[in-house]
Amino acid sequence: MRIKYAFFLFLILTCTFANLSPANGFQERKAIVMLDPGHGGNDTGVKGPDGSMEKNISFLLAKKISENLKDSSRVLLTREGDHNPDPVQRTSAANRGKADLFISLHTEGSPPQISGTIRIFHLPSHTIQSRDSGIWDEGHIPHTEQSTKLAHSLARAMEKRNLPQRIKVQTADLFLLKPLTMPSVLLEIGNLRSPRDALWLADPNNQNTLAAAIADGIGRFTDSMDAE
Ligand SMILES: [Zn+2]
Repeated sequence: MRIKYAFFLFLILTCTFANLSPANGFQERKAIVMLDPGHGGNDTGVKGPDGSMEKNISFLLAKKISENLKDSSRVLLTREGDHNPDPVQRTSAANRGKADLFISLHTEGSPPQISGTIRIFHLPSHTIQSRDSGIWDEGHIPHTEQSTKLAHSLARAMEKRNLPQRIKVQTADLFLLKPLTMPSVLLEIGNLRSPRDALWLADPNNQNTLAAAIADGIGRFTDSMDAE
């Protein structure tokens, strides 16, 4: 019997000490990065003057970012093909997968004369509760500060690459991000309706530079969480 109790005690202690390791520490495991290529399937998103589609650009970029991160992180995608998961499916995949961060990839659909800006959105620290929102929508609340840090980390990494676009970090009351139980941002990578931005986004060299910059920003963010 004593051996049995000693074994249980060992189990309890092991579990206790396992729980004492820092929740965000990545020394012993890879960070889990959830990339969310916007739109898909029948939902093409914004269409460019050259026939390009937001759903394809967001997916292509997600794949390229994923390739850049393959040695340092475990990357998950909310869709692996040309279909359109609904917002609940996208966010619950991230929550269930215990992702350490979530990045939704989009392009803007503003009037064609607007061009040359990459916007990084995060939720404001005090988001307005929608009337019918329940506890499900409150997942982000403990993570708003880290979401801001993630947004700025991405902005700095892009600025370092001297991209031709202005990089703007902005807040928006985005319902997609609200249920997420990890730091999260949504990127609007240029205005696809603008011929200038569409041309820039269609160039594989630019896509590679952009993907490398985003991956770099993710890496710097996870390193900073590691140090905390
Ligand atoms: Zn979109």
